[in-house]
Amino acid sequence: MNNRPSPIRGRFAPTPSGRLHLGNALTALLAWLQVRAAGGAMILRMEDLDAPRCKPGTAAQVMEEMAWLGLDWDEGPDVGGPCGPYEQSARLALYEEALERLGREDRIYPCYCSRAELQSIASAPHGLTGEGPVYDGRCRRLTAEERREREAVKTPSLRFAMPVKPFPFADGVAGPQSFGPGAGGDFVVKRADGIVGYQLAVVVDDIAMGVTDVFRGWDLLDSTPRQLALFEAFGEPPPRYAHGPLLLGLDGSRLSKRHGSVGLSALRERGAKPEKVTGWLAWTAGLTDEPEPLAPRELIRFWDPRRIAREAVRLPADWTNFIID
Ligand code: GLU
Repeated sequence: MNNRPSPIRGRFAPTPSGRLHLGNALTALLAWLQVRAAGGAMILRMEDLDAPRCKPGTAAQVMEEMAWLGLDWDEGPDVGGPCGPYEQSARLALYEEALERLGREDRIYPCYCSRAELQSIASAPHGLTGEGPVYDGRCRRLTAEERREREAVKTPSLRFAMPVKPFPFADGVAGPQSFGPGAGGDFVVKRADGIVGYQLAVVVDDIAMGVTDVFRGWDLLDSTPRQLALFEAFGEPPPRYAHGPLLLGLDGSRLSKRHGSVGLSALRERGAKPEKVTGWLAWTAGLTDEPEPLAPRELIRFWDPRRIAREAVRLPADWTNFIID
């Protein structure tokens, strides 16, 4: 028997700001199937940097809900592993080290722009406009004198100076992608309140954890050029990326905590069986022809990224019929 570990390493990286709903469950299932179909190692990483949004205890609930779905992981907050800790809140020293390096190499600069402007950036990657408005780079051009003046009245955020060139990539689901030069503009790697930016933390962790394959939701497709720019700045090869479909509620908006009935906890209370949920999710995403009850292990043989929907999927009005007896 060959006991060598598979070189494929994937991850599911939820933000434990709420429990799982069908949309997160779909992303978790697809990320898991991609890894398991390749005989790879699955990493679970809690992206809990934004402490005010992440209530204590939610990470444990998310793990319990994943286990209920039939998803497992080889490395994670509860089981540990060679690249731990697996909670971002316990990895701050690594992010600081990375920021120091970017600072030394003159790739980041302080930004003193107003709170209102920063807020639209702080809510990324979950803002309505994906990555938010493109920053015009005005603080990049400040003189040393101007910086000193502003520094006296305001704590700056730190922005990564996005190289003005395209970062094309071949997405495993969406196909070839090309965003314009400087895609999205200079982005925040550390907020003025001291919280490390999503893009930086994800890239530092994907490097440190040896992630080879990222499978995540479509809402992060436009984050990818920024992450590719960070990989390049750190001199590391990027992983392969694939972005799966978002689920939309009956009202056409992206599933969120507002759609209470699509939370896994609400479905469980109504008697939903996990294999019905996973079988239905796989069918919704395009992997199977029928919404049959199938546990994640039974779905591995259906894995085929070419079949995965390339657009958001709206819940049909009768969706609960498939999941609840
Ligand atoms: N933590 C991010 C989220 O919950 C996902 C990050 C990623 O997969 O790159 O949306």
